[in-house]
Amino acid sequence: MLIVQKYGGTSVGTLERIESVAKRVIETKKSDADVIVVVSAMSGVTNQLIEYAEHFTKHPDDIAMDMLLSSGERVTCALLTIAINNMGYKAVGLTGRQAGIITDEVHTKARIEMIDTSRMKEEIKEGKIIVVAGFQGIDKNGNVTTLGRGGSDLSAVAIAGALDADLCEIYTDVDGVYTTDPRIESRAKKLDKISYDEMLELASLGAKVLQNRSVELAKKLNVNLVTRSSFNNNEGTLITKEENMEAVLVSGIALDKNQARVTLRGVVDKPGIAAEIFSALAEKNINVDMIIQNVGQDGTTNLGFTVPQNELEVAKECVDKLAAAKHVEYSENIVKVSVVGVGMKSHSGVASLAFRTLADEGINIQMISTSEIKISVIVDQKYGELAVRALHQAYKLDK
Ligand code: ASP
Ligand code: MG
Repeated sequence: MLIVQKYGGTSVGTLERIESVAKRVIETKKSDADVIVVVSAMSGVTNQLIEYAEHFTKHPDDIAMDMLLSSGERVTCALLTIAINNMGYKAVGLTGRQAGIITDEVHTKARIEMIDTSRMKEEIKEGKIIVVAGFQGIDKNGNVTTLGRGGSDLSAVAIAGALDADLCEIYTDVDGVYTTDPRIESRAKKLDKISYDEMLELASLGAKVLQNRSVELAKKLNVNLVTRSSFNNNEGTLITKEENMEAVLVSGIALDKNQARVTLRGVVDKPGIAAEIFSALAEKNINVDMIIQNVGQDGTTNLGFTVPQNELEVAKECVDKLAAAKHVEYSENIVKVSVVGVGMKSHSGVASLAFRTLADEGINIQMISTSEIKISVIVDQKYGELAVRALHQAYKLDK
């Protein structure tokens, strides 16, 4: 049995915490498993390193930046190795390069291209616990690269995939994935299991728990992921293939506060207009989410869409330049509420219950979009949390 464990920044945030991680790793080893541990930098360290660089310039050389950023993980990697060895178990600490993690050359947000697992396999054969510095690799020019913020999750999943590990445990300071944000609904429940696709849709709930790219990679490589807390022994949430689960109707309710709405009225209703608008937005790398267009009347139509709030300014510039519509409205006072569940694929009435619930609360729906496993609505910001609580109850997620 091979287990990959990843410990995030708060889990290795102090020397005492590193010591208790060492004990947990040894417990796992004693259960007769081979263990590969991937570590983050101690909490706050990566931000601190970025600040150091920005003391000199807002635009530091990105090869140097990666050399700097990768150092945070190397510190925890070495300290944990020392701690484990000191407890009488054999451990070896490896940097990304030593672990064989080869990436492309896109510094500060590199992608893993392949993992040469020979060194790790050798060390495992010798019975050693392997500790890997997360968040980093090496490009073909021999330069250190980093994988983007939160990238240690990605290191762990990639290693688990490459070595066909039985389990990849991601340790943080929360117990797992909840049916909704417990700060909004105190009756939110921790989920035992959730599918990769649901987890991706619930990103706004899980963003603190797991980096999205790592969930996508886990799905691709078929890695069983568990997110759990390193501060207790609670079981955590398993993120796995849909086939491994009995289809629950609704798994969770997500609230996304980072959306803004753009409404174009009096758009000329002829071929090519939508292409023109959305190509312009795509060129600026704006992430358009919901899109709604009405049946035209008298040669014009209305078109609405949402973009991330922090991209609204750039979206405005694009849209205003195009002069594609008679009137354009922008609103930041909106939120997106999503009901997510794989069971929707095979059940009817899931959407109508959502709409009925919102209506009973007097909440007006401004936009609706659906996918196979998700219903999303845009509502006034001030109703966002109320909508979450009402839907959480309507789908009996507190039961
Ligand atoms: N230390 C890096 C960060 O803070 C990577 C990680 O923790 O996953 O983004
Ligand atoms: Mg993280």
